[in-house]
Amino acid sequence: MGGFGRPPRRDSLRNTAAMASDGGGQDRTIPNALAELEIGAGQFSSKVKICPFCQKGHVHGGGLLGQDDPRRFLGFRVAHCIRKCQLHVASYKLIDADPSRTEKILRGCG
Ligand SMILES: [Zn+2]
Repeated sequence: MGGFGRPPRRDSLRNTAAMASDGGGQDRTIPNALAELEIGAGQFSSKVKICPFCQKGHVHGGGLLGQDDPRRFLGFRVAHCIRKCQLHVASYKLIDADPSRTEKILRGCG
């Protein structure tokens, strides 16, 4: 399985946020979250193994099998764990943890 045994620390969060800053202007506090494509019953899901906020795993919907391209469902998402804390809404940016694996999966079920 992948190599994500190391929980992100404050420093690495800072780095990933900085790395994301070549995209747009609104990512100053939005960390990246590596997501792996999973196939469930009739649909894709993006599985975040280590949430940058709570260090736990989350699963986001990734579209319908055979209809949607799950890569279109990557990008900015609300972290599930923070929603109950209403002080602010925390988002992260879903990044494909293994794009070549995703391509292989998509080719297999295309
Ligand atoms: Zn979380």
